[in-house]
Amino acid sequence: IKMDSKKLAKLLYPDAKPITYWEEKYAPRFLPETAEVTRFAPSPTGPLHIGHFFQCICNSFIAKSTNGIFYFRVEDTDKKREVPGAVDKIVETLATFGIVYDEGRLLNGEEKGDYGPYLQSERMDIYNSFARYLVAKGRAFPCFCSKAEDLEEIEERREEQLEKYDELTDIDEQCRYLTLEEVEEKLAKGEPYALKFLSTGHPDKVFKFKDCVKGERKIRQNTKDFVLIKSNGLPVYAFAHAVDDHLMKTTLVVRGEEWYSSLAAHLELFDAFGFERVKYAHNPVICKLDENGNKRKLSKRKDPESDMRYFLKAGYPPAAITEYLLTLANSNFEQWRLENPTLSINEFPFSAEKITQSNPMFDFAKLNDISKNYISRLPADVVYQETLKWAKKYSKDFYAILIANPTFAPVVFGIDRDIPKPRKDISRWADVEKVWGYMFSDVFANKFKTLNDYEIRDLPKQDIYDIIMRYCAEFSVEHDKTQWFDNIKKFAEELGYATDNKAYKANPTAYKGNVATACEYIRIAITGSRNSPDLFSICATLGEAETKFRALKLAGILEKTGEILPCQATKDNSNKNIYKVDRIKENINLVKSEKIED
Ligand code: GLU
Repeated sequence: IKMDSKKLAKLLYPDAKPITYWEEKYAPRFLPETAEVTRFAPSPTGPLHIGHFFQCICNSFIAKSTNGIFYFRVEDTDKKREVPGAVDKIVETLATFGIVYDEGRLLNGEEKGDYGPYLQSERMDIYNSFARYLVAKGRAFPCFCSKAEDLEEIEERREEQLEKYDELTDIDEQCRYLTLEEVEEKLAKGEPYALKFLSTGHPDKVFKFKDCVKGERKIRQNTKDFVLIKSNGLPVYAFAHAVDDHLMKTTLVVRGEEWYSSLAAHLELFDAFGFERVKYAHNPVICKLDENGNKRKLSKRKDPESDMRYFLKAGYPPAAITEYLLTLANSNFEQWRLENPTLSINEFPFSAEKITQSNPMFDFAKLNDISKNYISRLPADVVYQETLKWAKKYSKDFYAILIANPTFAPVVFGIDRDIPKPRKDISRWADVEKVWGYMFSDVFANKFKTLNDYEIRDLPKQDIYDIIMRYCAEFSVEHDKTQWFDNIKKFAEELGYATDNKAYKANPTAYKGNVATACEYIRIAITGSRNSPDLFSICATLGEAETKFRALKLAGILEKTGEILPCQATKDNSNKNIYKVDRIKENINLVKSEKIED
């Protein structure tokens, strides 16, 4: 560079404070040596992307496991791509996913922490100081080439705009050699300029760098005079993150793989400033298999699951998503979880070095599994509250049912829950209606109207009819589980079912089935399907009225087929024991009116 850089610095940034002002303002953090200061630094360009959230989790867990600091910084210097309201949305999404940061932007422009402002667009004074400092050191210069910053922008979004990038790479580098007078002249004419970095890298030189994820790598030196500050005065990522990470005392940056290609430039910039380098960990990219079985990056445009809101809408508990992403990030997490099923994930010793190098595949089956496990461990009233919250937004009808049953619903969700092997059939709040909907009389009434709605298929209609009529007549909520089952055994036997399994197996054709068969018929009448949680608990929860009502309902439907003989309830066929829907019809009204209240 030919000109007097100190004069140039003064010319370009007449009012900028010296950097010592900022260095003094932001005191060192007094932390143990092993503590890492990490951050999540998204640009508010839209909803939170899963790849970004993945980085966020890594950063936050590294700070946690090293007793460090995790802060949240908003990188909003690309005003063209900024989406209004995105900052608050990101803050809200982070809160929903249980991400707590020690410092950073909160809702409505508030912030906490001593190293702010945490919004880059509010740090212009700081950037000007550091820009002036670099110019004075002869490591930055104004570039008046109109294409310069277009190129920079495209560079930052290289992946999205590859074609344009190729058009612009052959750019003139002459501004590096302008004299002070020439610069003064252009400034006087009001020519816009971008501030560019003056690289001293050599194209043949490589250096060793240890990336916390990728391990030790050889990297070619940067040789490009890249843009630091655009003509609108706003810094680009390379510049802003270097200054901020320095002043905010960041020690480790976990960021997206897409930044790896600019690493040499970033390191050269840190060195030019004389900053201590931060450690970098370049995170793998979450991929999926496309329709043709090819592995590709989760795409903002094509894959709804790339947007974190997708999971909330689908009804996944945020904690389950976090657990799933932890399995992708640290492969030892799963084993840890198995050994510590009840510990909070915050206890997990997350390690930057253990972050997987290869791009992980997003696997819904795995996520569902983790989520099922997670939900199976929740108390019933939490399941109720969470389902309620979800349904309020995404399933109005079910919400109405849940809100009308604040006592009954948690009892339902408690069936087969607080036991050593709880049921694992709910992976999302959206599943709750599918799994438990039939317990609510309105849902049941709507769903089961004709014989085809029941899972009866080719089962013998008469046998079902006989069993459920007897069940209806004899079910009592006074019975405990043993009495209940003994009673079923008794009448099943009378109706020709085996109660001795050995006898049944030895001679199955001698019987209509065994007690399990009888229970299956009852189950169909009460739940509509051949599989369900514990039948006794279901009937006890539904209560006598609803249980009997359901048995009679199916019996009535069966009678309408015209293929049914009145129930031959006892062996001796004595009249008083013949049950018939007609005869019990008035009981339906009776039982209906004494249904469980809520
Ligand atoms: N604003 C950058 C991004 O959104 C941050 C990268 C980083 O974490 O340093 O990709």
